Amino acid sequence: MSSVRPGSSCSCSSSLASKHYSKDPPLCKCGVEALLRFSRTAEHYGWRFWGCRFYQKDKKDSGCGNFEWFNDDDEKERVIREQRMKIAELQAALDATRSELSSALIELKLKKKEVKGMKRDAIQGIVWRNILSILCLLMFALNLYLIRV
Ligand SMILES: [Zn+2]
Repeated sequence: MSSVRPGSSCSCSSSLASKHYSKDPPLCKCGVEALLRFSRTAEHYGWRFWGCRFYQKDKKDSGCGNFEWFNDDDEKERVIREQRMKIAELQAALDATRSELSSALIELKLKKKEVKGMKRDAIQGIVWRNILSILCLLMFALNLYLIRV
């Protein structure tokens, strides 16, 4: 699930995370501690908020509907930093794909040249065979002529 349980039970290795999680969770409208969740909406993707721990994604009207943004001054910067890292990852993947593509293009060009050469050789072979058969016919005709004479 996309929820993270706040408090000392968090085994996050990041110091940043433990700093965030050291905050006491606020009480939900239902009287128990709220749960830290990640937003999945396009507008606030990756932002954290305190939500009801009885909320279930597929169940309508589950939980008390409690909602409160995780109000930390670093939160926006954390999201921006994460997104920058993601962008850098995607950029690296894009660069790798680009170089793969360009080497594939070079290979394709070489293959095209090869095919062209093979075609030319095949055509030359046909031409030579035709010339040879014409020569053979001429010799045959010459033989017939000489025999008669
Ligand atoms: Zn609740």
